Amino acid sequence: MSSEIQLSLFDNSNSDQQDLIPTDAKIPITSGTYNNMTELAQHCNQCHRCSLGDTRTHAVVGRGNLQAPIMVIGEAPGQNEDETGLPFVGRSGQLLEKILASVNLSTENDVYIANINKCRPPNNRVPTLDEIAACKPYLWEQIRLVNPKMILLTGATAVKGITGDKRGITKIRGQWLEWEGRLCMPIFHPSYLLRNPSKEKGAPKWLMWQDIQAVRAKLDEIRKNS
Ligand code: SF4
Repeated sequence: MSSEIQLSLFDNSNSDQQDLIPTDAKIPITSGTYNNMTELAQHCNQCHRCSLGDTRTHAVVGRGNLQAPIMVIGEAPGQNEDETGLPFVGRSGQLLEKILASVNLSTENDVYIANINKCRPPNNRVPTLDEIAACKPYLWEQIRLVNPKMILLTGATAVKGITGDKRGITKIRGQWLEWEGRLCMPIFHPSYLLRNPSKEKGAPKWLMWQDIQAVRAKLDEIRKNS
């Protein structure tokens, strides 16, 4: 058999396996599976690796700059996100945009936003460990494709789902962590800030203001040294 035929057989077997990815969580999604976010989004929109695929309207993959230096990762889509196919829309998303804008950051230029789970859990419940495990390889591919300088993890479920750290968000918010060679900071979820509107010193909104200024300073430092 010529080496060209051998090579084409190799290609075929790979693409068959790739076609099966959205059908079963046991099919691995290896690093480098997707060439771009469009290919990944196509799989997410036909995916049934977990039962959340049965009830979604749209898979919610991400939005923002695909080469952003900052990636914001949340837990899972809510109702607005499921309807629009975009993460962090509605009141939480508007507040997140305001928080970013307060230090001259925007999703157009500096930030890409995604969730661990791409499909909405019924009644906005927390995704189960199995659902998180089924969907996480898509997120790993998104992180590889965007290759951000830093990752902001919004809320305790995102922190636990990604780093395995089970500490409460009030304990670890604002701390820089290293995960898989990447700089990460846990921050409050915007929906938590909506429920806690006080801006008093020490209140969640005040703490978020400290954290986002630290993120801005770190980004400036990285840019200056690169
Ligand atoms: S949540 Fe993720 S793994 Fe589950 S069906 Fe949706 S895209 Fe697939």
